[in-house]
This record gives sequence, C-alpha cells and structure tokens, in this order.
Amino acid sequence: MRIDLHTHSTASDGTDSPADLVRNAAAAGLDVVALTDHDTTRGHAEALAALPEGLTLVTGAELSCRMDGIGLHMLAYLFDPEEPALLAERELVRDDRVPRARGMVGKLQELGVPVTWEQVARIAGDGSVGRPHVAEALVELGVVPDVSGAFTPEWLADGGRAYVEKHELDPVDAIRLVKAAGGVTVFAHPLAVKRGQVLPEASIARLAEAGLDGIEVDHMDHDEATRARLRGLAKELGLLTTGSSDYHGSRKTCRLGEYTTDPEIYGEITRRASGAFPVPGAGGPVA
Ligand code: AMP
Ligand code: ZN
Ligand code: FE
Ligand code: FE
Repeated sequence: MRIDLHTHSTASDGTDSPADLVRNAAAAGLDVVALTDHDTTRGHAEALAALPEGLTLVTGAELSCRMDGIGLHMLAYLFDPEEPALLAERELVRDDRVPRARGMVGKLQELGVPVTWEQVARIAGDGSVGRPHVAEALVELGVVPDVSGAFTPEWLADGGRAYVEKHELDPVDAIRLVKAAGGVTVFAHPLAVKRGQVLPEASIARLAEAGLDGIEVDHMDHDEATRARLRGLAKELGLLTTGSSDYHGSRKTCRLGEYTTDPEIYGEITRRASGAFPVPGAGGPVA
C-alpha cells in the first residue's frame, strides 16, 4: 500500500485542481491520498466526485498555527467538516489571508515592484490565497527566478521586507478543536529549518501532552539526521510518525508519493478518527 498523507490542490496553493490531483495520485500508483489544503476543506467535494477506482481519499486540511511567535503547520485528518467551532476557526484563518495578501502587495509596491492585487488574485483563482501565489506574481514580473527565490528576507520569508502575518491558531487550541471534531492531528514538517524558525523540542512535548497524535518525519525539508532525531523524539513522546510528499503540483518540485506513510500507522490514524472516514473510489479498497 502506498499512502501519501499531505497534498495541496487549487483549493489553496497547489496547481492541480482537486479532480486532477486524485487522478494524478492514482496514476502515480498511490492507494491512499490525503487532500490537505491550507485552512480549507473546499476541494474535498470535487476530489470525492472524481475519485478513481482503487484510490482512497482521506479528507483533511493543513492549519496555520503560531506558538511563541513561531509559525507552524498542523495537519488535521478525518474531522467532521461541519463541526461549528473548528469550521469557524478555519474560516477566520482562511478569510484573513485576503487582507494579508493585499498587505504584502502593498509592501511590494512600496519597494518599487509593479505587482497588483488583480495579478495575485488571478493567480490564486478561488483558492485560499498565500505567499506562493504572491511569489508566482514576482516570477511573472521577473523579480525572482522561481517561487522559492521569493522566500528570502529580501521578499516574502517570515519577517522579510514584504512579509505580513496572518491570523493563526494556537496549536494547542487547534489540537483540541480537531479532536473535538473527531479528527486526528499530525504536526507537519516540524523541523523544516529552511522555512524559518522551528519549535524547540520542549514545545513539541507540550503539544504531545495536549493530545497531538503524530509528527511528519519523512518530508523533503528534513535531512536524514533530522529524520533520525524526529523518530527518536516520537518514540520518547509516544507519537505516530508519517511520511508525505507535500505535493503542490508544479509550484514545488516534490512528486506525489515521493514520501509515504507506513500502512500500520495509517491504520492507527483511521482507527483514532471518528469525524469522517476514508472514502474508497468506486470498487477500491476500503482502507
Ligand atoms: P502562507 O501560508 O501563505 O504563509 O505560505 C506558506 C507556504 O509557502 C507553505 O505552505 C509552502 O507551501 C510555501 N513555502 C514556504 N517556504 C517556502 C520556500 N522556501 N520555498 C517555496 N515555498 C515555500
Ligand atoms: Zn502550500
Ligand atoms: Fe506546510
Ligand atoms: Fe503543505
């Protein structure tokens, strides 16, 4: 079984529509894929409608959080998408992305970059707007060579010249909200140092105490030494470990299924969840 538990579609900052994403996941030989767009579940219906035979969809989202001033991402799986408290928080975070992206456009204009909100809005389409969309506008304008080139202190990196914060959840609240909605939480790329500051181990221990289920270990932003360290930490704290691609279509280099999650751990995630269940494509395996 090949299981990839972290992907993005055009519902946030990926480039595949949700329907294309599940088709591509099947073509990549995956048995299970999770759709985890930033702060939204809007892509789920389209992904479910297009789900190919033999592929199982795990519904989820990647929630933007901040703890002690450090930004982090919390993957949430199989929660009830209608549960009002979590839904309200998701909408707050997602909706605040629009004024925030406009703010980044304003800062870029002050820096002499001829970017416009209309350009960024066109690139984002109806997806939840984020820095990768702004970064793509900078690529179009020839300001930077590629999307990664915009994630520097000069431009959009955390604290960068054109960076603007957005509303984010306290991860302890996020863990509790997701659990109350029947879902399971996995801390995404916890030690991705190239993205900026990361949480100290003591904070990860606090999240474990708050009910965190797992941490993402096999991820393109973790080197071998980091993965070994995270495996040790997971053992110490009694956390599950996952591996995933964090696929963003053509906006990032990682391929679907580049990293995968152990079937036993996947089974444990599904056993812990009660807010929603994995959906097999017509005729596909149940789990
Ligand atoms: P936002 O949620 O709008 O703050 O944007 C964060 C997203 O930008 C992350 O989910 C990544 O997909 C992307 N990102 C962060 N750092 C980098 C980087 N160094 N290169 C390319 N994309 C990045
Ligand atoms: Zn993303
Ligand atoms: Fe992330
Ligand atoms: Fe992601």
